[in-house]
Amino acid sequence: MTLLEVKNIDMHYVQRPFLFQRRQEISVLQKVAFSLQEGECLGIVGQSGSGKSTLGRIILGMERPKNGEVLFQGVNLYEATSKQKKMVRRDLQAVFQNSYHSFNPKQTIYEILEEPFLNFEHYNKTERQQKIKELLECVELPQTIVDSYPSQLSGGQQQRVNIARALALKPKLIVLDEAISSLDMILQKTIIQLLQTLQKELHLSYIFISHDLQATRFMSDRILVMQHGQLVEEIAKGGTYKHPASQELHNAILPSHPRERSFN
Ligand code: ADP
Ligand code: MG
Repeated sequence: MTLLEVKNIDMHYVQRPFLFQRRQEISVLQKVAFSLQEGECLGIVGQSGSGKSTLGRIILGMERPKNGEVLFQGVNLYEATSKQKKMVRRDLQAVFQNSYHSFNPKQTIYEILEEPFLNFEHYNKTERQQKIKELLECVELPQTIVDSYPSQLSGGQQQRVNIARALALKPKLIVLDEAISSLDMILQKTIIQLLQTLQKELHLSYIFISHDLQATRFMSDRILVMQHGQLVEEIAKGGTYKHPASQELHNAILPSHPRERSFN
């Protein structure tokens, strides 16, 4: 079943380079269109500045495109009723690169994970405690972490908390924007394995946005390559690629220790 349909998205930002200069429209996305099936992990790769994060924000309903529409479970994100918007806020979640900045540093891990339940569910205190316990088990974090503050955790632990928070309301789709890019290779591998296990167990779909073609290939069922705001190539699982933009991303992998770069 189709979970997400992205139709003919155009997006531009308005810039005024210097005071008194005329406003310029900078086109960031042009005619971007694709769909995502339930249970699928779709990779979106491209060089920095190719428009990946802008597309991610549009899919999440955080920004409105100039043209085009996004249908999530058949609901047009920009014409949704308040009831539909609530459904989307539960079923469509995100994990971003900078995990630390997505936390309120004054909240404990318990408070961070409790928030979605307070906002969306009617659980009592004991039920919330049980749910938070389950979430920590899901992302393989120790229960003792609940009293810690984000600053006391490692980057890998922070990203696990982020994933746990994204999972709290049992979403259908998680948009992961450079979600593992700031982690070292070994942590990247463990987080990818965790995401894959969760995908199977919870029947999740992912949009995995990254500049790293190798990690994306390892993670995704299918990859879309972006260049200058356009989708230029689709790569099937294990498939070959021939577009220069894909080749460039391939050549950008310059491992100091090639064996460490291997996700196999
Ligand atoms: P990527 O995630 O692939 O690195 P982005 O979507 O972040 O790319 O950015 C694509 C282009 O859009 C860049 O040229 C960037 O400078 C521009 N851009 C992104 N967000 C804004 C904004 N809020 N205002 C103006 N320009 C922006
Ligand atoms: Mg980005």
